[in-house]
Amino acid sequence: MRPAVLQDNPRMHLLNADLHCHSQVSDGTLSPEALAARAHAQGVELWSLTDHDEIGGQARARDAALALGMGYLTGTEISVSFIRETVHIVGLGFDADDAALQAGLAATRGGRRERASAMAESLAEVGIAGAFEGALRYVGNPELISRTHFARFLVDSGVCPDTHTVFRRYLTPGNPGYVPHRWAGLGDAVRWIRDAGGVAVIAHPARYRFTPTEEYALITEFIAHGGIGIEVVTGSHSAAEQIRYADTALEFGLLASRGSDFHSPEESRTELGALPGLPGRLQPVWKALQHRIQRA
Ligand code: AMP
Ligand code: MN
Ligand code: MN
Ligand code: MN
Repeated sequence: MRPAVLQDNPRMHLLNADLHCHSQVSDGTLSPEALAARAHAQGVELWSLTDHDEIGGQARARDAALALGMGYLTGTEISVSFIRETVHIVGLGFDADDAALQAGLAATRGGRRERASAMAESLAEVGIAGAFEGALRYVGNPELISRTHFARFLVDSGVCPDTHTVFRRYLTPGNPGYVPHRWAGLGDAVRWIRDAGGVAVIAHPARYRFTPTEEYALITEFIAHGGIGIEVVTGSHSAAEQIRYADTALEFGLLASRGSDFHSPEESRTELGALPGLPGRLQPVWKALQHRIQRA
């Protein structure tokens, strides 16, 4: 279904929109307020905080954004199991008070603690002791212990020089500390977002290790469930991948999104608001979300 509110503004794709980042409410290191200030200082005009499986930071992010004169879209990034991969679906512009969305996110968060215990056991088997307590020290939200917190522990305790190395040696399939986990279903995640009045977007599509057939299945099933957006310009994509997924957006008639996926000043390669603009041949996802943008 094409949104009825697409407006013909030829310059709209040039808006400095950053619709993907993380705060202490999930696995970022900054508060929602500090992120808003940083986004504003970087020239962001339209912003969304998209914590993993969690919307507890939305009111703070919106209030800070509006006080600084930025437009704000509610946001989250939902973990989904699809084939044998974890896929991330970003939700934008939903009603944060929606009970079904809140229940779905709570169910998706559930089990992270048990998974973390199992990850720590796996790390202990290769001689890395105390990882559960170690990771917990970095956690801002007790319901959201994530691999990122384990990565910070492994860097600060000297096991690895940086988080990039952590994810090459640990916490990923085939490596110590990896524990498979069942996340939300693709259709459920898209439905929670849509039924709450929002728009669903496939996050960083180049990150998944899918064959072309599997990627086709992801995109067509996502569309069949009512998903209408895909990230094209993201901190996770190379220049070539941006071109490739711009073509994908056009091929499937998807709206294009832009977001840094900023987590931390120390760890993130991409600064808030500092990505290239969306290619002018694409329809920006924020065109379909004009009526959902909150302003002061
Ligand atoms: P989880 O939701 O607990 O599985 O943790 C996933 C998070 O780990 C992602 O949202 C990223 O923040 C981080 N992550 C995963 N893979 C990498 C990687 N290769 N390099 C850096 N961070 C990663
Ligand atoms: Mn993350
Ligand atoms: Mn992600
Ligand atoms: Mn993210």
